Amino acid sequence: MPDVKPFLLTKLTWQEAKALYEETDIAIIPVGSQEQHGPALPLDNDAYQAQEFAYLVADRLWPKVKTIVTPLVSYGVSPHHMPFTGTITLRHETFIDVIVDIGKSLAKHGVKKIIVMNSHGGNTAALSIALRKLHDEDALFCVGIEWWKIAGDLVQKTFEPPHFHADEMETSVAWALGQRVLDKKRVDEPGREPVPGFSKATMFPSQPQIMPVWDTTDFTDSGTIGYATRASPEKGQIIVDAAIERMVAFIEKVASMD
Ligand SMILES: [Zn+2]
Repeated sequence: MPDVKPFLLTKLTWQEAKALYEETDIAIIPVGSQEQHGPALPLDNDAYQAQEFAYLVADRLWPKVKTIVTPLVSYGVSPHHMPFTGTITLRHETFIDVIVDIGKSLAKHGVKKIIVMNSHGGNTAALSIALRKLHDEDALFCVGIEWWKIAGDLVQKTFEPPHFHADEMETSVAWALGQRVLDKKRVDEPGREPVPGFSKATMFPSQPQIMPVWDTTDFTDSGTIGYATRASPEKGQIIVDAAIERMVAFIEKVASMD
C-alpha cells in the first residue's frame, strides 16, 4: 500500500474527495514540462520540481490549512527546446485549455481558490491567460507561484548569473529536492548573446533587454545556460527552504481570506 497523503486528490476515492472538498475550497495544481535540461538533469525536471514543491507545501500546511493537490500537469509549453531530443511540447492554446478545464472541474465541485505551482518559465505567458480566463469566467481567485520568483532575492544572492536554464540555480534546487543529477555530466555554458547588448539569457536582466522569439539553440549547444558545475544541493536547499516558507505563509493568508 502506498503512503496516501490526505491532500492527494488522485489517490482518494470519490467519497473521500467529496469529504475533502467540503473541508476546503483551495486547490494546488502542480505544473511542469518535459524538456531537455542539459546533460546532467532529466527531461522531467520541471514537472518533478513542481510536484515536490506542491507536496512539501501541502504537507506543511496540513491539517491547519487543508488543500487539495491535483494530479501533476507534466507537460508544458516548450517549443524553444524542441531541437533537443526527448522534449515534448504542448501548444500555448492546448496548455491554456488544459489549465482552464482543470480549473472549471475544480470549481464545479466547490473550489474557489486556485494556486498553480509552476516550475517552467515557458508556461508563464499561457498560464497567466488561463488564470485570467478562470478569474473572469468562473469568478475564481487564481494565483500562479514560481519558486524562482517567490525566492528571487535569495536566488540572486546565492547564485552567479546567468540565472537561466539547467544552470547553477536550477541544478542546485533540483538536487536539494532529490532529483536525479548526473553529477559528472554537469557543464558550464554561459550562453551566447544573439543580439549583443540586448539578448543575454537571464531571468533578472541587469542590462537593456528586448523580447525576442528564441530557440534554446540560439544560446547554447549543450542545453545548459549557466554554470552547472557550481551547483550544490546545499545551495539549492537555501532556495527550497525559503520558497516553501513563503509559499506556506502565502497560502495561510489565502485561506483566511473570503
Ligand atoms: Zn527547468
